[in-house]
Amino acid sequence: MLIVQKFGGSSVADAAKIKRVAGVIADTYLEGNDVVVVLSAQGDTTDDLLAKAAEINRNPSKRELDMLLATGEQISISLMAMALESMGLPAVSLTGWQAGFKTNSDYGNARILEVTAERVRSELDKRRIVLIAGFQGINKYDDITTLGRGGSDTSAVAVAAVLRADKCQIYTDVEGVYTADPRKVEGAVKLDEITYDEMLELASLGAQVLHNRSVMMAKKYSIELEVLSSYVRKPGTKVKEVAKNVEQMKISGIAKDNNVARIAVVGVPDEPGAAFKVFRALSNAHISVDIILQSLGKNHTNDISFTVTENDSDAAVAALEQAKDSIGFEHVSVDNHVSKVSIVGAGMMTSSGIATLMFEALYEASINIQMISTSEIKVSVLVAEDDADLAVRTIHNKFFK
Ligand code: ASP
Ligand code: MG
Repeated sequence: MLIVQKFGGSSVADAAKIKRVAGVIADTYLEGNDVVVVLSAQGDTTDDLLAKAAEINRNPSKRELDMLLATGEQISISLMAMALESMGLPAVSLTGWQAGFKTNSDYGNARILEVTAERVRSELDKRRIVLIAGFQGINKYDDITTLGRGGSDTSAVAVAAVLRADKCQIYTDVEGVYTADPRKVEGAVKLDEITYDEMLELASLGAQVLHNRSVMMAKKYSIELEVLSSYVRKPGTKVKEVAKNVEQMKISGIAKDNNVARIAVVGVPDEPGAAFKVFRALSNAHISVDIILQSLGKNHTNDISFTVTENDSDAAVAALEQAKDSIGFEHVSVDNHVSKVSIVGAGMMTSSGIATLMFEALYEASINIQMISTSEIKVSVLVAEDDADLAVRTIHNKFFK
């Protein structure tokens, strides 16, 4: 079999952990498999590198930032190769460039265009364990790019797709995908299986397990992923097209996202084109908007509220203020102390009353809902940030007790 294994930063944080992971890789290899390993930077390395850059220049060019950030993964792969060498195993480390990861030029958030992987194949033919630096690639100018925070997952899925790997295993510090963050919610349950669509929602809604682009890519190329622990050797969670839902669970998970701001545009004229003008101003500024609510304001006006990521909130206000005359609103207000709490489950398509259960749980905990949005397989509510952890726990109790 050809197996792609990805280990996250916490799994390779220090020498002891690298040696332990080397043991996992060695076992896979010695069972007779071809093994490709994608690694993240050790522990907090990427954050530390960002801090180092900030000491020198508060606003460095993105090209130079990528040049710097890509070094973190290079440390991991070379150290892992040394660990395997010391066990007498043949291993070779490759940068994203050497492994053929071609990306566009969106530094800091580059998309993979193709993975040529010739070098990877020829190293596998020599029966070597191939260690690839995740999170990085190269653009048409031969410059180093990075794929966005958490991007090593996407590197792993991309190389698994190109090599048509039999398995793509994402090793992490928890045992799989849980119904809620197991570090925060007592009684959180590990799922045996979850669908791509559910995982995509959870990943986009704030669950930190997988990079959401990795899930999109896995779905597109039908790569079955397994999320599992690098510490305990037992089955993790399979991410696939159709998941068996043994217990007929109503929902698969609850996620919380604190990186949300609520913006209210107050006193927008109640006339055709008003919403268009508000959101045109935002899209011209490349700001993506999430939950939207329009409600009646005073004197034949509307109030339009929406959420953006917290990092975009200043830019959103600036864009609106700039377009104030053409839109004709009264004022804009921002609240950064909000969180989005969401439930996700493919079961929602077939059973009713799921949203009601969620709202009941929030009512019982006296938590006020500021906004609501729904899709086929999710319900999200906006609540005060201080209420968010309680909201997750009480909703979890409602569904899983
Ligand atoms: N080291 C990078 C980050 O921290 C990529 C990754 O870990 O997946 O975002
Ligand atoms: Mg990660």
